[in-house]
Amino acid sequence: MMKRYIEQAEQLFMPTYSRFPVVLDRGKGVYLYDVDGNKYLDFGAGIAVFALGYSNKEYNDALKLQIDKLLHTSNLYYNLPAIEAAEKFTKASGMDQVFFTNSGTEAIEGAIKLARKYYYKKYGIANSQIISMDHSFHGRSMGALSVTGTKKYREAFEPLIGGVVFAEYNNLQSVKELIQENTCAILMEPVQGEGGIHPATQEFMEGVRRLCDQHDMLLIFDEIQCGMGRTGEMFAYQKFGVTPDIMTSAKALGCGLPVGAFAARDEVASAFEPGDHGTTYGGNPFVTAAVSQVFDLFESEQILDHVNQISPYLSEKLEEIVQKYKCIKEHRGIGLMQGLEFNIPVKEIIANCLNKGLILISAGSNMIRFVPPLIIEKEHVDEMITILEEVLNDIGQD
Ligand SMILES: *Cc1c(COP(=O)(O)O)cnc(C)c1O
Repeated sequence: MMKRYIEQAEQLFMPTYSRFPVVLDRGKGVYLYDVDGNKYLDFGAGIAVFALGYSNKEYNDALKLQIDKLLHTSNLYYNLPAIEAAEKFTKASGMDQVFFTNSGTEAIEGAIKLARKYYYKKYGIANSQIISMDHSFHGRSMGALSVTGTKKYREAFEPLIGGVVFAEYNNLQSVKELIQENTCAILMEPVQGEGGIHPATQEFMEGVRRLCDQHDMLLIFDEIQCGMGRTGEMFAYQKFGVTPDIMTSAKALGCGLPVGAFAARDEVASAFEPGDHGTTYGGNPFVTAAVSQVFDLFESEQILDHVNQISPYLSEKLEEIVQKYKCIKEHRGIGLMQGLEFNIPVKEIIANCLNKGLILISAGSNMIRFVPPLIIEKEHVDEMITILEEVLNDIGQD
């Protein structure tokens, strides 16, 4: 059955992905099921999206209610779910004002535009420069791609937006060397995701904040992957006690609905005037009802406490695996955003895990990334480890 669907899909979709050969059909908790009824333990969560797991009843009920009430209004009017979501988002992030988008990429676009507009308004300088980081990932649109630190993603699409330079992550000196008179912002992920699960060091986080204060640059944190509870704080920067001027969110923000956000301090946000930015769908009542419900469920289900309880167990188990297998180089990560770096490509390992009912995702060719739903329990960690070890033993890696 699946084979026929997959053949059909390959005819119909543009060839931008090499997909794994499963057709997923439904989900419950931390498990997914394909159209043939096979069950998978999901340690990918739709790329760090389904924080609350699949088919959360309260979440689904809230959306069903909103469907029957009002799906969309445009941003020419106000709507209650958006106001509630904005209230909860600003409270959780410590920012003053927010703009809801349809994706993480668009949140980055908005953040870049806001930084440039702020600088333009304050100093009358266009052409301002942004410092981003090597191996960062911020999205695939022309703007977001321009600040994405992987050359191979950018190369074919040049010229991108100008005025972007790349520093070495966790190397403050390399950031310092790139600062110019017209540098308006430093953009970085507090924990790099796609680039291979690299957490920032405390010194680096504090250091970039200091540089931004000294040189009147804006600090932009991309919390699209590492935010929304994944590190055990609502946003990863809170773990470091370092506050940005602008921040972005998406992925788990909607827990399955396409919604992102960028938010800023008052003084920065007020650089925007009517007409500077907009979106038709962004922040519509359907997606913001989801955002609002997600924040409520984080509280009622004490998700942050749970992440802090369960994540040391995942770390411990991954550390054990590193000790056991020579093909694994290192374990990195914070909270439920962890990774194993291998000395070999991980594609085959991931494919074999899938065959045994475990969904894992990579982050670069040699890295397996563990970004499960935030509701996982010890038994799920054990189940994952058992399958992973089976696969490693099978392929004769030690
Ligand atoms: C996924 C991701 C993006 C892009 O978000 P989309 O919703 O895919 O547009 C940007 N930044 C980071 C850190 C991400 O992980």
